[in-house]
Amino acid sequence: MPVMTSLSYTASMNMNSIPAFLNEIDQSKDDLIELTQALIRIPTLNPPGEYYRDICDFLHQRLRKSGFETEFVRATGTPGDSDRYPRWNIIARHTSGNSGDCVHFNSHTDVVEVGKGWTLDPFGGDLVGDRIFGRGACDMKGGLAASIIAAEAFIKTWPDYPGSIEISGTADEESGGFGGVAYLAEHGYFSPDKVQHVIIPEPLNKDRVCLGHRGVWWAEIETHGRIAHGSMPFLGDCAVRHMGAVVTEMEHSLFPALQLKRTDMPVVPEGAKQSTMNINSIHGGQAEPAADYTGLPSAVVPDTCKMVIDRRFLMEEALPEVKAEVHDLLEAVKSNRTDFNYSIKDMFEVQPTMTDKNAPVVTAVSDAIEQILGKPPAYVVSPGTYDQKHIDRIGRMNNCIAYGPGILDLAHQPDEYISVTDMLDSAKVMGIALTQLLPHQ
Ligand SMILES: [Zn+2]
Repeated sequence: MPVMTSLSYTASMNMNSIPAFLNEIDQSKDDLIELTQALIRIPTLNPPGEYYRDICDFLHQRLRKSGFETEFVRATGTPGDSDRYPRWNIIARHTSGNSGDCVHFNSHTDVVEVGKGWTLDPFGGDLVGDRIFGRGACDMKGGLAASIIAAEAFIKTWPDYPGSIEISGTADEESGGFGGVAYLAEHGYFSPDKVQHVIIPEPLNKDRVCLGHRGVWWAEIETHGRIAHGSMPFLGDCAVRHMGAVVTEMEHSLFPALQLKRTDMPVVPEGAKQSTMNINSIHGGQAEPAADYTGLPSAVVPDTCKMVIDRRFLMEEALPEVKAEVHDLLEAVKSNRTDFNYSIKDMFEVQPTMTDKNAPVVTAVSDAIEQILGKPPAYVVSPGTYDQKHIDRIGRMNNCIAYGPGILDLAHQPDEYISVTDMLDSAKVMGIALTQLLPHQ
């Protein structure tokens, strides 16, 4: 049959080019190292959001040489955006001119504060053995560099591929992504008619496919009291003692109940395979005095106390139930405690998300991992959220995963590093996945 002949002919053409593609990646090792170092040396600290334009300019220069068209987008008016700290993003697009799907690699360009404990220059990009050190090396400039090398080698090997490849460098992931992916999704850059497959090269390890993340609910609980002189607390009503009753009730009923809620989501690490809640902060009474103040505090009964909770929930839970659990707990305290008054307000919420294991981007990357690393991938779900939340919710795009080099535990740590071998391996995986997502017809 002619169709069969033609299919097997193109398939074998593809197969024959794979060694050339893998060789191209290996040959680009020095380039990959220099590219990663150059990205680390642009200190894109967030907050406040430094050098976003500089890193976009750098990516523009690099990708234009490889035939990409670029677009700069400033997320005007988003949190933190100002003339001093503009929220710049870049979207680069390459197309061969042949029709087909669009595969988008999205990396955030911001890095978190340096913190203490570094033995090397956090923005030096030092290469020691197989490791490149620096803030953002692992989270996620190494992943960004690997995706660029993968796309360039793919384009060089199969210049007449069908469809298009996009690479974006986006702002503010570390502070919620509102000036980055959320803004781009709101402006149509991730809509399903434009982009069909998304890979986010976050450091989830080169042999794992991250399908999504748990949900988040942040809320602020406030207990109300009555101010009085500290020597006569019986004339007032201590809001901190009321909050103490809330904490006690949480210890008795809520935390044990959360431990029993297990999920079928493959969340890593193991401890996050259940519902969790963190008490982020409690503040009641007078604020801590400034460091240079040597006086004593005044004697006052606190009339307000605030607690911020960070509840992480599972696919198996609905957000209204998650909220009701805390509301019911507060009502239970109220029914047992004289003069207990409280208020609660929502601060932030994200639905859990998990891409189907049979989605095209999942199978393509899984097959590529098996081909390059010789073993099937592990499927994981992240304990915390990342930019997939905006692509999923605003962009309505659920064919999205996180896949990239780097050890997740090193993110945000001192002496953060990325392994050159891991970057090369994951670049091979990304490129082989492209051959499946953008197959020759
Ligand atoms: Zn990250």
